[in-house]
Amino acid sequence: MTKQIIPAILLLLALMLLPTLLARAQAPDQFLITLAMPDKRERTALLQEGFEVWGATTDSITVAGDRETLRALQKRGEQITAVTPLAFPPDFDDYHDYAEMVSELHGLAATYPDITHLQSIGQSHQGRELWMLRITDRPHEIEADEKGILIYGGTHAREHLSIEQALFLANDLVQNYGVEGEATNLIDNRDIWILPNLNPDGSEYDIDQWHSQPPYWRKNRRDNQDGTWGVDLNRNFGYRWGCCGGSSSYTGSNTYRGPAPFSEPESQALRDFVIAHPRLTMSFSLHTYGELILYPYGYTYLDLPPDMEADDLQIFRAMSSKIASLNGYTAQQASDLYVVDGEHTDWFYGERRIYAVTWELYPSSSNPGFYPPDDIIPAQTERNRAALRYGVSLADDPAKSVGEGADMTPPAIQILTPDQGEQIFADVPIHVTVIITDNVDVTTVEYLIDDKPIAVRNGDDFSAALTLTSGTYELTARAFDAAHWQSLSDPVQLDVIPAQTIYLPLWRRETP
Ligand SMILES: [Zn+2]
Repeated sequence: MTKQIIPAILLLLALMLLPTLLARAQAPDQFLITLAMPDKRERTALLQEGFEVWGATTDSITVAGDRETLRALQKRGEQITAVTPLAFPPDFDDYHDYAEMVSELHGLAATYPDITHLQSIGQSHQGRELWMLRITDRPHEIEADEKGILIYGGTHAREHLSIEQALFLANDLVQNYGVEGEATNLIDNRDIWILPNLNPDGSEYDIDQWHSQPPYWRKNRRDNQDGTWGVDLNRNFGYRWGCCGGSSSYTGSNTYRGPAPFSEPESQALRDFVIAHPRLTMSFSLHTYGELILYPYGYTYLDLPPDMEADDLQIFRAMSSKIASLNGYTAQQASDLYVVDGEHTDWFYGERRIYAVTWELYPSSSNPGFYPPDDIIPAQTERNRAALRYGVSLADDPAKSVGEGADMTPPAIQILTPDQGEQIFADVPIHVTVIITDNVDVTTVEYLIDDKPIAVRNGDDFSAALTLTSGTYELTARAFDAAHWQSLSDPVQLDVIPAQTIYLPLWRRETP
């Protein structure tokens, strides 16, 4: 009898609890809360109080939290403009996890061995290799005559789109080498280093966990030995580490700066790589989200503190706004969002005088925040093609973004042969020659038929032999110089007619 009563009581209890359990399963317990907050000092204060800040604009800030967080913000009298439940996208498969990223990098290195070299610059806490793809025309040599740029993503685990953006750039450059002039010129004249994922432990943890209990992970995976995990790699660098209230000493915080500057193996690997490559002049640190281009410093609200040269501020402003004009982002000083310290670009510039900027990629707001569905990847990475190429082109002389003392003269190019209206036969090679003038050496010439690149010349001889089928075409040529200036020739109209058999007059026949 007792045995029958107990299951009955359990069933009754379960039925009574069911609505609560269902409600708990359906109602999200984590939210993104956006507040109107136009004062950057107020935003910094909110961060310092321990609120988990997900993003900021010049007039708002978004924090993640539960109902208690929401109540706390309401109590403070904050103006809440949006509350959205935290959710992972339904479709996330096209994002590269670590194994897929490694396999893609090895694939690129195997397919393009003459212009790439893949190497690990170190290991994460959990022993994952930090893979760096070098893209240049002499990938196994020290190129004393070429300046370098470092582009890396994945610093923050949940910012998965940054890894896609780095892989996009690698693919864009190598696939277009010898196919079109701009990519060819960049690979021939710059030393390009791409590290898609600086924090593979963090991104793997974020991906592995989210179906059961989404971690929305940001930091690396150091065991802090107190029940908490992770250091914020973008607060762990040694320039003004922990100076200014822009990071946390509390191990559980999302902006925990670590026990010491460069305490993390991922930070050490990046630092040591930069020190070992003194010809790096620029660096892009890819993050999400906000659609922003952020230049140093982050540790201070001052535009021009004593540790920045006035000329450099001009360069940072010029290059950032030019990049922003190409991708539709907004350029501003990093501390315009809120103060950060121990941040990467502060160290790159403050310690190494490298022109380093942070890219906060798509989206512009907390919806969809860190987790846009994967169908946005093609358009949102393509959106940065021109901006990234422009950035790579600046590496030889970042000052040319302003114009101070740099090569500012584009080449001039003119098609010499064939002549306008010259009769051309189909399937017979046409010899194309050009006249080029420039104050410095022209490095690359690209030939286009009806605006589509069909041949690239990057040696000493820029002439080309083109073969066309019958039809009417417009031929143009574009010249690039080492500073990456380019110009397009006037077009030449080509009337290509079917090849004809030419009969010699009878009277010229010899008698046998
Ligand atoms: Zn980030």
